[in-house]
Amino acid sequence: MNHTFSLFERLQSPVWVFDIQHQKILWANPASLPLWEAASLEELTARDLGLDMTQAVRAQLEVYQQRFVAGEAIKTWWSFTPKGREKKALCHFSGIPLPDGRLAMLVEVLDEESTLRRELAFSGCTNLALLFSADGALLSANTAFEQAFGSQLSDLASFVGDTDLAERWLAETRDQQTVQLKKLCWTGRSHCWFRIHGQWLQDKHQLLLSLININQEKEQLSKARYNAEHDFMTGLLNRRGLTKAITEYQHSCQPYSLFFLDLDGFKLVNDTYGHAIGDKLLRAVAIRILDRVKNRGLLARFGGDEFIIQVEHRNIDSPARFAKSIIAALNKPFHLKEVGDLSVGCSIGIASFPEDAQEIDTLIIQADMAMHRAKQRGRNRSHHFSPDMADALYRKMTLRHHLTLALETNNFDLYYQPIVDLASHQLKGFEALIRWYDEELGQVSPAEFIPLAEETGQIVPLGHWILKTACQQLAAWSEKYQRRFIISVNLSRAQLQASLAPAIEALLLQYDIQPSQLALELTESTMLQDYDEAKQCLDALAGLGLELYLDDFGTGYSSLSQLQDLPISTVKLDQSFVQGEHKSSQAIIEATRAICEKLELKVVAEGVETLKQLQYLQQCQFDYCQGYYLGRPMPPAELEASNFRLLNSIPASPRSSVDVLAS
Ligand code: C2E
Ligand code: CA
Ligand code: CA
Repeated sequence: MNHTFSLFERLQSPVWVFDIQHQKILWANPASLPLWEAASLEELTARDLGLDMTQAVRAQLEVYQQRFVAGEAIKTWWSFTPKGREKKALCHFSGIPLPDGRLAMLVEVLDEESTLRRELAFSGCTNLALLFSADGALLSANTAFEQAFGSQLSDLASFVGDTDLAERWLAETRDQQTVQLKKLCWTGRSHCWFRIHGQWLQDKHQLLLSLININQEKEQLSKARYNAEHDFMTGLLNRRGLTKAITEYQHSCQPYSLFFLDLDGFKLVNDTYGHAIGDKLLRAVAIRILDRVKNRGLLARFGGDEFIIQVEHRNIDSPARFAKSIIAALNKPFHLKEVGDLSVGCSIGIASFPEDAQEIDTLIIQADMAMHRAKQRGRNRSHHFSPDMADALYRKMTLRHHLTLALETNNFDLYYQPIVDLASHQLKGFEALIRWYDEELGQVSPAEFIPLAEETGQIVPLGHWILKTACQQLAAWSEKYQRRFIISVNLSRAQLQASLAPAIEALLLQYDIQPSQLALELTESTMLQDYDEAKQCLDALAGLGLELYLDDFGTGYSSLSQLQDLPISTVKLDQSFVQGEHKSSQAIIEATRAICEKLELKVVAEGVETLKQLQYLQQCQFDYCQGYYLGRPMPPAELEASNFRLLNSIPASPRSSVDVLAS
């Protein structure tokens, strides 16, 4: 016999051959002796292991044997109690033919794994076994089970916690099906999660359950689930947790509203005081909102400074009033030890179930849109979702998609609108204005798609295309007509980068253009946003010899003196004043002219549509003028065809201001 198994002799890990039928060890390698507390192989093979073997284990071994016959091997934790000492090992069980033709069990202890995993998953992975009679009474539990859970368990129904289920298991396994699942069961002492493999023992009419304790795994899972559904910083639900909670709750069909809340000016707090203070403030905000919501609904943090509240309508008098109370609560200052009192505003968007939408995800999107509308309307207020917002969003998404396609091929045109010198009555040059015609969407206004391109950063490559095209045009007209026009090009904030001046310099060189022929139009917000960076860039551009125009003057908040340090040569008064019938518009026109004179800036009047407007500007001694009255933005070919003639001629300068005002 020894000879047959001598192959395993030198293995470092314990290996033995077990006679299942007679419950005896037939052979074991020397490494097994300590595990079995055996003095010698002779002593070990002489033992009758059937003596203290539970019925459950016996049944389990028989099942194993059947599986060995089928060529299977089994890897599991197994417990032994040699000489009363409890030992556990991860074993590999397989069938091994004996010289007499029977099948014995070869057991190999996977030592290297046992040392590692013992710590981690010890009790959890030990083989536990329960044997039940055909009517579900517990016949036997193996030692490992009893050590872990005692011996209070009486029957299958109490184990699975359900009489019907117990009967179903018995019936199903009797029909040769195996039961295989993870389940929370009652052990007679406590509840425990098991991975269960149930099998009917045909000859004995018994049900054998092999169990693996997976409690730890389950606990980790529920912790992981908790983390996945909660916001780490505030302990509130996160987006996923809220969605789940509401989805589960929606069966109740009670009307409710979602409030999408975004703090106003939170970024400023973060930038000024740092993220630690920002986080503190967010936690304080969470507590204050929670205090308003109480147990009337759910509160979740959506990341950043965004929160969502869900409240049933029966718990509040009206969504708008509830939103108002939240805003009022947040408007009260927050006292933070490190920085003193801080106040924040918030904008809230509201969407209601079921009027606005049935799906939670849609409601969230709608409330988000409504929140943005609240911000546009001046912040620190709430706004209820309305379908036109969805249309606007849809339009925006469509535009964004089409714009990306158009950018791939630069499928745009540059139009040119005349700018006229009012002193000489000569055409001074043009403002370059981009045009986009899309097959599906038709003509799209730059006022609509430029902000989109700014949002996505696409304005940078697009802006370069515009500059290049304008330069090309200047070069073409210089050559063809020997005229040196000035073309002014609009710039967006994102284009104000250190690389802009060198890029423009290269274009000027490439197309042989005088720097004085190119002007750049920027709004005051473009110039003032990240002032230091912008100023450096503007200085570099002016250093090249380009003129900088301040666009849309009068619509911003800053006074001209704030812009004094910037290298601006010309101010473009916004068309709303030029077209304004009101006395105040006239006052602004005159004041602008006066200030510009003092600061030695030139002034362009934009949006001149009528002779009357033109005459008034002449009288106010504006330097330049631009508008439909003199010429619309046109493609180059059209301008050339008209031989650059203006739409209307400019009247001789009025003799005195009194004349015009009286007319
Ligand atoms: P803006 O820079 O203030 O351009 C003047 C706008 O007023 C142009 O609108 C022009 O067509 C329009 N306009 C000119 N004269 C009259 C008039 O007499 N009456 C009226 N009612 N409107 C007049 P447009 O071309 O639709 O451009 C709108 C805005 O889009 C521009 O305002 C500018 O901010 C932006 N934009 C246009 N082209 C470009 C571009 O190439 N680059 C960048 N970054 N922005 C551009
Ligand atoms: Ca402009
Ligand atoms: Ca303008």
